[in-house]
Amino acid sequence: MIGVHRRKANEGFKIVLTCGRAVMSDYYNFSGLGFTSAVPNNILPSLIYNRFFPLKSDREGRMLEAQLGLCKIEAALLDYGFTREEVIISDPTKLKYTVSPKTKVVGIGVLDPLGLSYGSKVVKFVLRRFGLKCKKSIMSKTFENVIFDPAIRRYRPKIIVGGQGSWQIIDSNMQEKLGIDCIVEGEGEGVAGEIFEKAVHGENLPRIIRGNFVEANKVPVIRTPSRCGVIEITRGCGRQCLFCVPGLLPFRSFSKDRILEEIRLNLKAGIDQVSLQSDDALLYGSNGREPHPKALLDLLACIRALGVDEDRLGFEFFSIRSIMLNPKLVDDVSEMIGLHGHRYSVVEVGVETGSPRLLAKYMAGKVKPFNVSDWKDIVLSAAEILHSNNWRACYSLILGLPGETRDDVLQTLEIVDQLKTYNCVIVPIIFMPAGRLRKKGDFAFELMTEDRWELFFECIEHTLIKAPSFLKNNSLTKKIRNGIIRTLFYFGAMRMRRWRKSRDIIFNSPKRTIQRTALESPCGESGV
Ligand code: SF4
Repeated sequence: MIGVHRRKANEGFKIVLTCGRAVMSDYYNFSGLGFTSAVPNNILPSLIYNRFFPLKSDREGRMLEAQLGLCKIEAALLDYGFTREEVIISDPTKLKYTVSPKTKVVGIGVLDPLGLSYGSKVVKFVLRRFGLKCKKSIMSKTFENVIFDPAIRRYRPKIIVGGQGSWQIIDSNMQEKLGIDCIVEGEGEGVAGEIFEKAVHGENLPRIIRGNFVEANKVPVIRTPSRCGVIEITRGCGRQCLFCVPGLLPFRSFSKDRILEEIRLNLKAGIDQVSLQSDDALLYGSNGREPHPKALLDLLACIRALGVDEDRLGFEFFSIRSIMLNPKLVDDVSEMIGLHGHRYSVVEVGVETGSPRLLAKYMAGKVKPFNVSDWKDIVLSAAEILHSNNWRACYSLILGLPGETRDDVLQTLEIVDQLKTYNCVIVPIIFMPAGRLRKKGDFAFELMTEDRWELFFECIEHTLIKAPSFLKNNSLTKKIRNGIIRTLFYFGAMRMRRWRKSRDIIFNSPKRTIQRTALESPCGESGV
């Protein structure tokens, strides 16, 4: 499976796939640690953050487990005809061994390469309020370490970049400055073989290439185990919320056999946890509209039959509409993974807004077949179903959608006030132009009105208090770790509360123009 012989120094590989340390790491199987990659690298220097982001590779530099996107691209190249002797997913700290004169192309996966994501921006904003200077985020710094790695600069292979964050490089015109030959946007598996072959033969590459829809049975089965046991069970959503990238892609479910094959690979490598990746796991095996309970329950039964402990099996996302279309499926899934007594599981759920007007404008498909005017009741009923089945939900909201008014924000606040009665966290996401709204301009913190700040702080304060209860306490080390996190979060929440009370800190900064009345975001009412 994994190459074990040590190559001579500088022998290298023809194709090297890699990514920044903060993307590649398994975070000690505690994916929450990944969020610290948004912290500026001058606040957490490399001596410390390297400890947060461990890497597992063998002596020749091959990763023993890697980020799922890179595993898929590696598998696509192997299916295309390249051999394991030619292709490596490389430890980013061992590029001096894996990149050599023999290396024709380096493929780099990116999530937030320039620190432009919501998470990086919020962390910077908060730290600046504490009077701290903020340089680039750890995620951004570790990407830079790879792209400017001395071995890559010395041997000058072609550089291909792909992944969720590739838009940041395109939109900020940084491609030439970073020396990137080709950026792949969208699904990479369908184009990887051809584009890497061209690179290997020294042919010119297109500056930007669009990776199109890949049918479920053509998406390759991974050969390198996936970190944190992440396994993709569906892709795309197709409900076409205007701000969402998966929403543009048609919905597909992967076959049970392929999913089980990938889980077996992980188990063989000692990764005993399974995290089922999907934008709405309750739709597994369906036509993308209504849940197909038999397919999902059968999949779960087969996963359990492989010996996966119920405590080690989790989901990423459920949608509110699927919960409401089939509440019994939530009961059955909960029972199947043993959620009773003190046992709980965490799942992410998108609420996005409390405003029926914004729902109708940007995300009607998210609500169908229900009515947007019933959204508040639907959200709260779904929250009750999750809560009574021992799910701890992480609800997301979007602040600053183009054309958002004070009334819209107040309607969202109403939902938040009621959601807070459940053991949940609520994460406010500042609108970032993506999907069909990509060219619609960014929403800046300078445009936060008093109502938006109220909503923002209410969510963050609640989240800081509740989040530690989501952490598992099943060993002494975890109890100590969680105690430290709980204390830090508690002080963070108290600090937020003080900010809210002394509004001057937020609203009277000399650097910002504050508008206390309802504000339109840059796109205005006719933004879409
Ligand atoms: S329902 Fe969710 S995943 Fe689907 S398009 Fe809307 S926001 Fe995206």
